[in-house]
Amino acid sequence: MSWKDRLLSTNALAKALLQQQIETWPALRDAVAGFNQVEYKSFSVKGSEVLTQFNPKRIVSAEAKVDAATIGQRPCFLCPDNLPKEEKGIAFGASFVILCNPFPVLRDHLVIASRQHTPQEINGSFGAFLDLTRELGEGWFTLYNGARCGASAPDHLHFQACSSKSVPLFDDVKYFSTQKTAEGLRLITSERYRLNFVAAQTDQREALIGWFAHAVNALGEVTAANEEPMFNLVATYWDEQWTIFVLPRAKHRPDCYFAEGEKQLLVSPGAIDLAGVMVVPHPDHYARITRRDLERIYAEVSLDDTRFQQWLAIISLSGEQSREANRV
Ligand SMILES: [Zn+2]
Repeated sequence: MSWKDRLLSTNALAKALLQQQIETWPALRDAVAGFNQVEYKSFSVKGSEVLTQFNPKRIVSAEAKVDAATIGQRPCFLCPDNLPKEEKGIAFGASFVILCNPFPVLRDHLVIASRQHTPQEINGSFGAFLDLTRELGEGWFTLYNGARCGASAPDHLHFQACSSKSVPLFDDVKYFSTQKTAEGLRLITSERYRLNFVAAQTDQREALIGWFAHAVNALGEVTAANEEPMFNLVATYWDEQWTIFVLPRAKHRPDCYFAEGEKQLLVSPGAIDLAGVMVVPHPDHYARITRRDLERIYAEVSLDDTRFQQWLAIISLSGEQSREANRV
């Protein structure tokens, strides 16, 4: 047996970290015990399953102000000086640390934070995101919430990872048609789904990095973004290939978030919500949210059909064809 075979995988280390932290960090132990009490309701939204999750511990995140002024005044909860004394992590490469999320939404919820206090922007770190996804492997998925659409620390670069069990998106994707790009990637696009997305599938790391950079640039053009365009990412590495779901956004929080009285529904969608587990931290809101509300929320926060089709037209073409199309 070689040393390679004897080294603990990131997957095994992450499981050991979760166990160690539950044993030694009382707040995490309570959070995980609380998570085991969350309730679910199942809805069919445009033919796909959505689970609403009543998770009162998430109220802090749902109500969090994420404007620059508020963020600038609070101590960053992903910087080592401000973590609880019991919180420990695993090094992931030279630039990232794997930590346990003390407010879990799904089982085995991890936060993978940059060692530097640097803004939430994936440009330059997408390769690390792919490596993380591959190293965690089967049974997990990874995610990225853009600074303006779901990240609760928009000032500190971080990814997340969770158990992939019971996440509706991963079942739904089997039913969509695929096409191959000139670079050999398989592209999967949503059709009459509750939200617009595109997913790229391949075992070729460099080709995927190239395609993703192109997709983000094109999304920036289509949405006229001055900074990183709004999107969430969900990714898996199963059967030795990546599937990267790019979920483009029109806005972060839906209008019902800001409504008053009976009309208010406090939901603050990020990647997990878009993947089909909609967190509803308020008990009254959990009781009254309907299928139609969910349909409206997904349509409102994801990119509208017109701009989605424009974006798709650019990224479905190969680099060569795309340049041709631009010249015409
Ligand atoms: Zn920080």
